[in-house]
Amino acid sequence: MPTDALLDDAGALAAAVSGPPIGDSIALSHDEDGTVVTSCGECGYAFGPADRDPKLGAVMRERSIADLSPLNAEGMTERLVARHFHCPQCALLLAVNVQQVGDPIMLEWRLDVDGKGA
Ligand SMILES: [Zn+2]
Repeated sequence: MPTDALLDDAGALAAAVSGPPIGDSIALSHDEDGTVVTSCGECGYAFGPADRDPKLGAVMRERSIADLSPLNAEGMTERLVARHFHCPQCALLLAVNVQQVGDPIMLEWRLDVDGKGA
């Protein structure tokens, strides 16, 4: 990777840390050790290192897909579940994933905080 690209990546990361939330709910900040972490865009709660999906530091509750829409009550309510991920401190909703019952948490986040690539 060209040096300029690394500098651009580092500059972009520095601008994103302590900047406005990414989307509606996740922000980047530094913890007391200087590690870049994901944090709640509302209250600042740290979910964990920024290279890890913030859902892994959130509170999850599972609800029937019929709670999302009455139309969902017509099929697959035994096989599918709606997983809601919330900030443990202020309850801000981070994400909702519809998945098969028993499947692992769907990881959707990848952030290269050290410039080494994925
Ligand atoms: Zn919060």
